[in-house]
Amino acid sequence: MQGEEIYDLVIVGGGPAGATAAIYSARAALKTAVLDKGLTTGALGITSKIANYPGIDGEIGGAELLAIMRKQAASFGAEFIDDKAIGADFSGEIKQVYGNQGVYQAKAVIIATGSMGRSNLIKGEAEFLGRGVSYCAICDAAFFKDAPIAVTGNSDEAVEEALYLTRFASKVTLLSPTPELRAPEELIAELAEKPNAEILKGAVVREILGEGQVQGIRYLMRAQKDRDMPVNGVFVYLQGGVPVTDWLQGQLEITEAGCIRVNREYETSVPGIFAVGDVLCSHIKQAVIAASDGAIAAIAVEKRLRGKKQMGFDWSK
Ligand SMILES: Cc1cc2nc3c(=O)[nH]c(=O)nc-3n(C[C@H](O)[C@H](O)[C@H](O)COP(=O)(O)OP(=O)(O)OC[C@H]3O[C@@H](n4cnc5c(N)ncnc54)[C@H](O)[C@@H]3O)c2cc1C
Repeated sequence: MQGEEIYDLVIVGGGPAGATAAIYSARAALKTAVLDKGLTTGALGITSKIANYPGIDGEIGGAELLAIMRKQAASFGAEFIDDKAIGADFSGEIKQVYGNQGVYQAKAVIIATGSMGRSNLIKGEAEFLGRGVSYCAICDAAFFKDAPIAVTGNSDEAVEEALYLTRFASKVTLLSPTPELRAPEELIAELAEKPNAEILKGAVVREILGEGQVQGIRYLMRAQKDRDMPVNGVFVYLQGGVPVTDWLQGQLEITEAGCIRVNREYETSVPGIFAVGDVLCSHIKQAVIAASDGAIAAIAVEKRLRGKKQMGFDWSK
């Protein structure tokens, strides 16, 4: 798998974006490897249930859905490798991805490492990170057993995380900065029905309060005066995540907002290197969209490697 072997395509990240890219490239008979650091570490992998993925009737666990995608890709010949990419060298004709277990070489690379929840928009957020501030309910919910917590955000991720937290906390207050939540109605209804959940719409968390540990939040609702709410934890989902690009060490052109620049076929500023899914930030964060990106990029890789079409540089912002 490593050493002298040269893949047609190495995909870094086996979430819906990477796994779908693998389905398309392996099906097109490209020698494909997918590096992934863990089935349950990405956004879909940690999602307890998803009900809006086309073709899946009813609810399914995110990791279960991912396992199906990976099985499908593997059935076409894609090789899944448990490894974490820690660096890369895209300067030569053959691209190198450095993992903990070895170096992976390929003619093309698709980056599909997703994004992690980090916003740092609220006063006190950075100060209390790990001391009551969290971005991951599955990781940290157990620390807040029988304690009151706040969740801030308006996305389906925020609602789903709040729902998960109701299993642990004495009370979960979801503060949406916008007047309406941008999440499926049934998900919002499920949260609203929980006896220990409250949804405050148009409520902006202005400050996280505490001494050493989170003790409360200060928030503003409907232009009235600031109010304080005692909580032990604050889960922040204000900005979606920050792209997981640290391992790329600045080899690709990045926009002012810190996002990887890609063209319409998801090719980056370096020919042969593509990026798809949540790692791109000007983007709707949904599994089906990530999967679609992956399919488009894999088709573009195939065109490139088989010389079907000259790739252009048509940057989209
Ligand atoms: C709580 C929650 C609920 C959601 N609910 C829904 C929903 O109901 N419906 C919906 O459509 N979408 C939902 N989403 C959004 C959806 O999960 C994401 O948009 C989608 O998973 C993005 O796919 P991706 O492949 O780009 O990234 P991810 O799913 O995050 O996958 C990235 C992969 O890259 C791997 N990786 C990261 N860094 C490295 C590295 N250095 N080396 C190797 N591997 C690496 C990770 O292990 C992971 O497997 C939800 C997200 C969350 C967090």
